[in-house]
Amino acid sequence: MNRIGVFTSGGDAPGMNAAIRAVVRAGIFYNKEIVGIYRGYEGMIEGDFEEMDVRSVANILQRGGTMLKSARSKEFRTPEGRKKAFEQLKKHNIDGLIGIGGDGSFTGMHHLFLEHGLPYICIPGTIDNDIPGTDYTIGYDTATNTAVEAIDKIRDTALSHNRLFFIEVMGRDSGYIAISSGIAGGAVSIIIPEEETSIDELVEKLNRGGKKKKTSSLVIVAEGGKSGSAMEIAQKVKEKSSYFDTKVTILGHLQRGGTPTYFDRVLASKMGVAAIEGLDQGKTDVMVGIRHHDIIFNKFDDIMNQPKDIHKDDLRIAKILSI
Ligand code: ATP
Repeated sequence: MNRIGVFTSGGDAPGMNAAIRAVVRAGIFYNKEIVGIYRGYEGMIEGDFEEMDVRSVANILQRGGTMLKSARSKEFRTPEGRKKAFEQLKKHNIDGLIGIGGDGSFTGMHHLFLEHGLPYICIPGTIDNDIPGTDYTIGYDTATNTAVEAIDKIRDTALSHNRLFFIEVMGRDSGYIAISSGIAGGAVSIIIPEEETSIDELVEKLNRGGKKKKTSSLVIVAEGGKSGSAMEIAQKVKEKSSYFDTKVTILGHLQRGGTPTYFDRVLASKMGVAAIEGLDQGKTDVMVGIRHHDIIFNKFDDIMNQPKDIHKDDLRIAKILSI
């Protein structure tokens, strides 16, 4: 394998740049030519490619976002779209792919591989940490730290005004950011998509706190929960109890940006080098993962038909600490 294409796809995540840098530099170290593909699958279909060298990735290690830009492509979801993408890759003599993105991006590469035989390795880059086969995805640590910083700031105003705050964090189908930031931020309750939450129980818990002279409370809500958005839950709580002065804050895209933490930079660097070495050793249709500090490679079929469950023990700890 001589020419490898690298791209980012799906939602951007802090640390993606560190992964691009690692792929480019490790590729050059192993005498490969590296081609940057802009705007994910959209740019792949349009042939938005650029040769990369060591200097193209200078000074990006510490930057959030992705220098290669990201996109979501409807066309790539169709066999015709993938054929167009493959023809562009062939035209540019690309004989291997490294894609940095979430489970959707991984699925896209898998289909391209099945239909056209192009070897690839996926690097898990998503703030949601919702991909099985790895303890951590790139961006999750930074996004959680950003959420914790915001929660700490909101706590100051909650305390000053005796308020109940509902803080919505990202995680459409995954409660990872909510649980970790909720534990770190001392939330009284954490509402996640993986669990049903009873509004009555929540109100009862808040009332118990009120009776114990707890003057402010923070509830963390993951955006994709079955119980509704933070706004909807706050409304339901208000209807059942007029005791609280309630406010809602939605952290939103704030969580995607910013300087990646050391953890995400190191993770991305390790995964980028592993992806190049993996392709060089003939691995394909796999995602790089990290397990207990070690790099592993997961076959698509082994991990993508199972959900990534939240750590039950984290939930237990959150409940013990929020009495
Ligand atoms: P994030 O976790 O940040 O949302 P993601 O990679 O899961 O990242 P998606 O929007 O789900 O983000 O997927 C990114 C792109 O991958 C899509 O826009 C689409 O082009 C492609 N893709 C997703 N699912 C499929 C699929 N089943 N078949 C082919 N391509 C797909």
